[in-house]
Amino acid sequence: MKVIISATLRSFFTRSTEVEAAGNTIEEILIDLTARYPEAKRGLYDDEGKLRKFIRIFAGEEDMTDESKHKETLDGVPSVMLLPFVAGGAPDEKLISDERIKEVHLDDKDIDRFNKHLLLREIGVKGQKRIKAAKVVIIGAGALGSPVIQYLAAAGVGTIKVVDHDQVSIENLQSQVIHSSRDVKRPKAASARDTIRNIDRNIEVIAENLMVTAENAASVIEGYDLVIDCTDNYKSRYLINDACHLAGIPLVFGAIYQYEGQVGIFGYEDGPCLRCLYPNPPEPGLVPTCAEGGTISPLGGIVGSIQANEALKLIIGTGEHLSGRLLTIDTMSLHSGMLKVKKDVNCPLCGKSPSITHIEDIDYEELCSIKREEEQEAAVEGLTPEELAGRIESGEKITIVDVREPHERAIIRFPDALVIPIGQLARRQKELDPQVDTIFICKEGKRSILAINTLREAGYKGALYNLKGGMDAMKDIIFSNEGGGL
Ligand SMILES: [Zn+2]
Repeated sequence: MKVIISATLRSFFTRSTEVEAAGNTIEEILIDLTARYPEAKRGLYDDEGKLRKFIRIFAGEEDMTDESKHKETLDGVPSVMLLPFVAGGAPDEKLISDERIKEVHLDDKDIDRFNKHLLLREIGVKGQKRIKAAKVVIIGAGALGSPVIQYLAAAGVGTIKVVDHDQVSIENLQSQVIHSSRDVKRPKAASARDTIRNIDRNIEVIAENLMVTAENAASVIEGYDLVIDCTDNYKSRYLINDACHLAGIPLVFGAIYQYEGQVGIFGYEDGPCLRCLYPNPPEPGLVPTCAEGGTISPLGGIVGSIQANEALKLIIGTGEHLSGRLLTIDTMSLHSGMLKVKKDVNCPLCGKSPSITHIEDIDYEELCSIKREEEQEAAVEGLTPEELAGRIESGEKITIVDVREPHERAIIRFPDALVIPIGQLARRQKELDPQVDTIFICKEGKRSILAINTLREAGYKGALYNLKGGMDAMKDIIFSNEGGGL
C-alpha cells in the first residue's frame, strides 16, 4: 500500500513524500510502517503507545483515524495518508536547517558587505548564514529572472544555478536588465553568470544553457533548496511545478503580462501547487504569450523583486509568505490583490490520490482538454507567406482576416485585411463570402488556427486557410520595400 507522508512528518521517513507499507488494514499498515521506519514511532505515537491526537489517517477520502476502524479491510483504496494538524506559522524544520548553518562562516568582508542585513533583527548573523548556505535554482534569465538573479546574488545566496536555453536578442534589452548590449547573441545563462560574478565572485554559479524537459527536470533541481520559476510558457511552468512537488522542493512562481503580474509560492509545507490553482492552461493560442503580448519595461522588475523577496523570507524562515495565496498586481491602475489559493484534494499531483507520480512531458492539447478526434481529422490548411504573397500579387479575389489584438496591429498593419477578433467570428461570419478563399492571420500562426476551428464549429462552409508562421513570417516579404511599415 502506498502511504502518503505529509511535510511535517517527512523527517521520520527519510524525507520521502510517499513510502510503501504492507498490510490490508490501517493496523497492519501502521505496524509495518513503524517496523520499516523505527524513527516514525516517536512521531506517530505518544509515550503510552497511543496514536498522537494531532494526526489523522485517511484511506482514500475516508477518515480512518478512529481506532474502531483500524481493523477494516481497505479494498480498492489507492493510498493511505498521514495528515497532521498543521497550525501554520514557523515550521519546525527550516528550509535551511540549523545543522547546515554550522558549516557556514561569515568573514570580515561578509560582515562589511551584508551590514544592512545584519542590522535587521529578523536576519542578523544567523539569517545571513542561512542565505549563504542556501542553494537556489532560477529557471529563466529573462524579464523576471533578471531582478531575481541579481537581488539573490546581491543578498549573498551562496549557490545560484541559472537555467535558460535562449540567447540574448536586442529586443530583450528593454526588460531583461541582467543582460547588456554586448551580450546580444550570447546564451542568456552565460551572460547572467557573468553578471553574478561581477556582483560577488564568492558565489558559486552554475550556468546551464538548456531547456527544461521531462527528462532533465529532476536533475536540474536536484540537491537545491528552492526553485524560482521565471519562465514565460505554460509547458515549462507545469513541468517545473511537477518536478518540484515530486522532489519536495518549494517553488516561487511569478508571471507577467503587459501591465499585470502574479506571484505565489507552491509546494511549500502542505500548501497548494500550481495545478491546484490552474488545473488547465488556456487553450493554445487563446491567450497571447508574453513574447506575443508585450510587457512594460519595469514590470519584470516589480514582480521579480517580489519573487526574490519571498525567496529570502523562505530561506531566513521569517515573515508572512505567499504560500496558499496569490498576489496580483496591475501596474496600470496600481490595484493589487491577495487571493486565497486552496489545496485541491482532487489535484492530480498533490491531492489525496494523485495520478501524476513521475515527471512526464506535457501534452499541451491534452492538458487543455481540447484534443478531439474530429479536430485532428479536420486539419487546418495552411499557406506559406510566399504563397499568400503570390496570390495577392496575382490579383485573385481573396479575403484576409486579421485576428490580432489592436496593440499588435499598431506595430505592423496588414494591408487591406478585415479585422475580426476571435470572439466575434461566429457572429460576424456573414461578412465573409463562402465563394471566396479566406486567409486568417495572427502573429505566429497559432491563434489563426483557433479562429478557423471556431468558424468551422459555427457552421461556416467556405474555404479557410491559415497563414503559416503568421505576421512574424510574413512581415519580411510584404514590407521589404516599405521599411517595415513602422
Ligand atoms: Zn496541487
